[in-house]
Amino acid sequence: MDNRTLLNYCRQVVGQLEIPAPYDVAEVCDLIEQRRGRQLSVLPMAIPVYEGSPSGLWVETDDCDYILYQANTTRAHQEHIVAHEIGHMLLDHRSLPSDQDEVSQLLMPSLDPALVRTVLSRTSYLDLEEQQAEVVASLLPIQAGQSQRRQAARDVPAGVANLVDHLERSLLARSGRRI
Ligand SMILES: [Zn+2]
Repeated sequence: MDNRTLLNYCRQVVGQLEIPAPYDVAEVCDLIEQRRGRQLSVLPMAIPVYEGSPSGLWVETDDCDYILYQANTTRAHQEHIVAHEIGHMLLDHRSLPSDQDEVSQLLMPSLDPALVRTVLSRTSYLDLEEQQAEVVASLLPIQAGQSQRRQAARDVPAGVANLVDHLERSLLARSGRRI
């Protein structure tokens, strides 16, 4: 998949979402809950940092989804991590295989670093999936308000539409072609 194909594919996926403006990643989480018909819990976690470790995780259990994000980083980075995990969800990537016991243990306040590492070591997503999730994460804020803008463009009042029509025709008459 070349870059253009990748971008177009991600645009198409994000373009289906009606994200309100101003952009708020929490609103996107609500949308995801509606689309998937299941609860999504977004939780901070002190994820051990080592080479190749992810800063976020999407864990899918039988009846709900969890996004765990790095607690020890800036707010902006945290929001990006959440958006990246949402990217994986939107793109129908595989979530982290979940074992209910492991998930419950992960979500317990006193984390066992060994367990966290065991779970994280299984997050070997394909590079392509990582790229796609990154692109989607970057496109989500741009998509905010797009559907409202499209709607607004359709709802041009009759008077204005007439004016636009007139302008268009006089321009056409002058240049002899559509511009
Ligand atoms: Zn990822």
